[in-house]
Amino acid sequence: MREPGAPLPDLAIEARGLEKTYRGAGKSPPKQALKGIDLAIPRGSFFGLLGPNGAGKSTFINILGGLVVKTGGQASIWGFDITADPRNARGAIGIVPQELNMDPFFTPYESLEMQAGFYGVPKAERRTDEILDAVGLLDKRDAYSRTLSGGMKRRLLVAKALVHTPPVVVLDEPTAGVDVDLRKQLWAYIKTLHARGVTIVLTTHYLEEAQELCDTIAIINHGAVIACEPTPQILRRLDKRTLVIVPQTALEAPPPALADLDAVLRKDGALAITYGSGARTVEGLLDRVKAAGVAIKDLSTEEPDLEDVFVALTSGQ
Ligand code: ADP
Repeated sequence: MREPGAPLPDLAIEARGLEKTYRGAGKSPPKQALKGIDLAIPRGSFFGLLGPNGAGKSTFINILGGLVVKTGGQASIWGFDITADPRNARGAIGIVPQELNMDPFFTPYESLEMQAGFYGVPKAERRTDEILDAVGLLDKRDAYSRTLSGGMKRRLLVAKALVHTPPVVVLDEPTAGVDVDLRKQLWAYIKTLHARGVTIVLTTHYLEEAQELCDTIAIINHGAVIACEPTPQILRRLDKRTLVIVPQTALEAPPPALADLDAVLRKDGALAITYGSGARTVEGLLDRVKAAGVAIKDLSTEEPDLEDVFVALTSGQ
């Protein structure tokens, strides 16, 4: 445990050159899931770890939680090295896992009490009813888990991650398959935790979710951090739209008059112009297109595909 009165760490989580290579099962080759992750997550932040499926987010989280053993580099939680001081490191973090894996024969009350026992929380310090109340499950306190709805189970997982009052809470893809109401409820509660000073780390492959909640976003792709910036800054980089124009008469190539724009001619004959919405207006672009002699038959706009953004960022565009 941290000495009473000791200063709080500046970083809730720190990773330096963190690596993981999974040994291949059977004939499958080894898989390098993390290729030297460097991340510094400040105490008190609401931090988003964003990346497509297979990027390495869960591997990172599971290393922090002690479920996966790193093969290189270092990580610490609340100043405790996960290898040198695993007990304290694990005691400082609460992880809400993706899967709904819980024992159907225990009640929410029993599940939380067991979890508290697992973390060595003395009986006098347990806050089981308070936590159940906070996640809206107090009236289900003594119901069997198998009788709970999916949303209730999800909330029970959040509750389980909180029994030892960790200063750092990690949510691994918390809203995958969760309905809108529950999502709102979950976020409201997570926000109150954050307001109380808890550091929140959220992994997601939804840009919108990260954008709405997080003050800082790190983007991870193919096991490497490719960007880590305050949210507004990263959004500016992702702020691209594409204007798709179907011309009246087929074009052979993008008009030379539009050479200064990011304009391409698609296979289906559409002229696609990608632009930063902060920098240009659709109206201005349409004027340019018309001035270039293109008669417009139809038009639409496209939002950026996160996958494209990852590709763009990784290739250094
Ligand atoms: P994410 O959480 O971002 O979707 P993961 O951390 O689950 O990514 O996976 C990262 C990469 O590691 C993927 O290519 C995945 O297939 C691979 N991987 C994950 N777990 C294992 C494992 N137990 N054995 C082998 N490869 C794994």
